[in-house]
Amino acid sequence: MTPISKRLKSVFAIQSEQKWVNKQSTAEQRIEKLLKLKTVIQSREDDVVRALHADLRKDDEGGRNEAVPIYGEVDQTVAELANWMAPVKADPTPFVESRAKIISEGRGVVLLFSPWNYPFALLFQPLVSIIAAGNCALVKPNELAPHVSKLAAEIINEVFDEKDVAVFEGGVDVANEMLELPIDHIFFTGSPAVGKIIMTAAAKHLASVTLELGGKNPVIVDRTADMQTAAGTIAAFRNLNNGQVCLCPENIWLPEEVADEFIAMVQGAFQAMFYKDGKLNPDTNGKIIDERNYQRVKGYIDDARSKGANIVCGGDGDLELRSIHPTIMTDVPANATIMGEETFGPILNIFTYKDVNEAIIAIQQQPKPLALYIFTSDDEFSEMVLSKTSSGGVTVNGCLMHVAVPGMPFGGVNSSGIGAYHGIFGFRELSHQRSVLFM
Ligand code: NAD
Repeated sequence: MTPISKRLKSVFAIQSEQKWVNKQSTAEQRIEKLLKLKTVIQSREDDVVRALHADLRKDDEGGRNEAVPIYGEVDQTVAELANWMAPVKADPTPFVESRAKIISEGRGVVLLFSPWNYPFALLFQPLVSIIAAGNCALVKPNELAPHVSKLAAEIINEVFDEKDVAVFEGGVDVANEMLELPIDHIFFTGSPAVGKIIMTAAAKHLASVTLELGGKNPVIVDRTADMQTAAGTIAAFRNLNNGQVCLCPENIWLPEEVADEFIAMVQGAFQAMFYKDGKLNPDTNGKIIDERNYQRVKGYIDDARSKGANIVCGGDGDLELRSIHPTIMTDVPANATIMGEETFGPILNIFTYKDVNEAIIAIQQQPKPLALYIFTSDDEFSEMVLSKTSSGGVTVNGCLMHVAVPGMPFGGVNSSGIGAYHGIFGFRELSHQRSVLFM
C-alpha cells in the first residue's frame, strides 16, 4: 500500500464517523469555518496572485478575480445559511391529522476535484457549499496547476481539521484511488470525457454526483444586434485565459450578409486587446497550461486547415510564450476534428445563416452546451431562440456574465453537466432533502 493510499483510507475512516457529527452542526459552527477560510485566503491573496501567474500567467487582476467569488460565496452563505437550513413545513395530506416537514441534511463525505483553468476559484467555491451543507470533504486540487495546488493544500491544512476537510495532491493515480472509496457524493469540475469516468465510478457505490463540465458554446447574432458590441464582446471572451474557459463563445452564427464586416470587427478587437506593436502581447494573452494542451489546440487548427478550412487570422502559436494566436476559421468542414471537440483554446469558428432556423437546427444536433449567447435587440428573437434550444445557462447581449449572478444556479445540462451550484443552489446540491412525516 502506498503512503497516500494508507493516509487516504485512514482519513476516509475518520471522516465516515465525523460526517454524523457535521450533519448535526449548527449554522454558527459552519459559519465559523467559512469565515476562517475567508480570512486565511485574504491573508494569502498575494500568494494566490503569484501562484496563478506561475501556472497560467494570469495578471494581478486575473489572480484576484479568482479570490473574489469565494469571498462573495462566503458572505452570502454567512448572511443566509440559517434560513437555508431551517426545516420547511410541508402539507401532510392525505394524513390531515399529521404534520410533515422537509429537512436539508449533509450528504456525508464528498470528493472534490477541480480543473486547472480556474484552479483556485473552482476548488474553494464548491468547498463553501460543501461546508455550508454540513459535509466532510476529501479534496484533490488539479495537478496541472502545481503552484496553486501546493498553495490550496497549505490553506486547507491551515483552516481545517483533517476530519472535516483533507487535501490530497496528485494526478490521475490519486484520483483513481479516491474513486475506489464508498463515498457519498462527488463534486467534479472538468471535461465531459473524465466526467463519464467519474459517473461510472460513482455508480459502483451509487454515490450522487455534481458534474460541472464543458462543451462547445454557440452564439447566435441576430440582424438587429449592435454588431460592434457583439464583435468586441466575442473577441474579448473568446481569448480570455487564452481561450481556456468553459464558458467561452466558440461557434458563431452570423447573418450571411454581415459576416465579412463582422469578422473584420472581431479581428480589429483582437489586435487592440491582445497585440502590441503587431506582436502577441504576453501580458494580455494567457498561457496554455502545458505543452500537451498547446499541441492539442494547435492540432485542431492544422487538422482543419488540411481539410480545407479557411484561417482568417491567427492559426499559429508561440511555443515559448505557450500562447496560441486568437484564431478565426471559416468553412470548417464537418469532418474536422474541432467540430466534435471542445476547443479550450482561442479559436472562433464562424458559420453563416440566411434563415436563423439553420443555426438553431445545427445547435439542436450538438450535445447541449454549457452556455448559449444571443446578440439581439429584439426580445421576441431571444425568446424564440430560448424556446427552441437548451444549454446550462444563457447571457443575452453578453458572454459569461450569467455565471456572476449569485441568485441563479450555475451548471450544465446532460453532456455539459449534471447539477448546479452557487448560493442556495449549491447548499441544496450538497444536501439531501429528507421528508419527515409525524403520524
Ligand atoms: P479534466 O477532466 O482533465 O481533469 C479534471 C480532474 O479530473 C483532475 O483532478 C484530474 O486529475 C482528474 N482526472 C483526469 N483524468 C482522469 C482519469 N482518467 N481518471 C480519473 N480522474 C481523472 O479537466 P481539466 O482539463 O482539468 O479541465 C478542462 C475541462 O473542464 C474543460 O472541459 C472545461 O470545459 C471544464 N470546465 C468546466 C467548468 C464548469 O464550471 N462547468 C469550469 C472549468 C472547466
